[in-house]
Amino acid sequence: DLIFDKKVPLPGHANSMSFSAFDKDERLLVKRVYYSVGGGFVVTDTELDQMRADKKKASSGERIPFPFATAKQMLEMAERSGLSIAQMKRANEETRMSSEELDAGLDRIWAAMNSCIDRGLKVEGIMPGGLKVRRRARAIHDKLQEEWRSNRINPLLANDWLSVYAMAVNEENAAGGRVVTAPTNGAAGVIPATIRYYQHFHEDWDQDGIRNYLLTAAAVGGIIKHNASISGAEVGCQGEVGSAAAMAAAGLAAVMGATPEQIENAAEIALEHHLGMTCDPVAGLVQVPCIERNALGAVKAVTAASLAIKGDGQHFVPLDACIETMRQTGYDMSEKYKETSTGGLAVNVVEC
Ligand code: SF4
Repeated sequence: DLIFDKKVPLPGHANSMSFSAFDKDERLLVKRVYYSVGGGFVVTDTELDQMRADKKKASSGERIPFPFATAKQMLEMAERSGLSIAQMKRANEETRMSSEELDAGLDRIWAAMNSCIDRGLKVEGIMPGGLKVRRRARAIHDKLQEEWRSNRINPLLANDWLSVYAMAVNEENAAGGRVVTAPTNGAAGVIPATIRYYQHFHEDWDQDGIRNYLLTAAAVGGIIKHNASISGAEVGCQGEVGSAAAMAAAGLAAVMGATPEQIENAAEIALEHHLGMTCDPVAGLVQVPCIERNALGAVKAVTAASLAIKGDGQHFVPLDACIETMRQTGYDMSEKYKETSTGGLAVNVVEC
């Protein structure tokens, strides 16, 4: 008794499902609507309203010392306080928990990300769902390790490692493994890949660096979520992998010693070059193009951080303008490019 009505989205959210129960005389007994709003959340219409009300309340910033809702405000507060973005975010979080609890939580997040990479690098085989897509991370990893051991020069070394780390996570996600929604499951590979890259290629990495990375990335992710969206169903993949890349670029720039302006610049570069990207997963499975897309998102994030840190933070397109552009572009995007698998690659690749 399911009716797949892909043409008429419900008003609350593009990803929706309505359930109705009837008695034997076809009288409606109960009706419930559920929305899949991204980030792994499925909510009723009442919960959706509540989430939006909470978002508004949080944005009024009554209880936190640095209630930045935009990148501009974030930079102004950093300038006035003399604190880094991570320090401001930490101060905000510590209104709800102790410093030890916050560090323990951040460490738990990284441990979950890290073990997801490790699992993804070990497993081979076909991913579930019917597309028969083969897991590739392990074989690529084996080759990279061999190359590393033999000291062969690989001009694309960093890109290859970033890609394999991201693919390991997204293959785990596609196979139903445990991932950290960062900011969503479909885009879960970008942030872990760039943190592992930081450990792999930056000799001065430490646990505090990872915490600062996560706090900075969370600050940028919060601004994007507040002013636009991180959901592929709302704004296409620019909101998922684009946001993940912006968060990762910001986090990485922070641990490379960037100023708040350079961090904002890094996030902007990464997001700008995902603008317009649609969500068109083949067969509705988060495999093609999603797995490779995370790899490329991670590569763009590192490039964005590196470009930003070579400048002085002054740049042409403010992050806020880029986020607003993403929102408007997502708003204008046809529903067929928003996680419905009715356009793009999803209709041009033969499933067999
Ligand atoms: S294509 Fe869609 S499902 Fe895949 S990662 Fe992007 S937003 Fe997520």
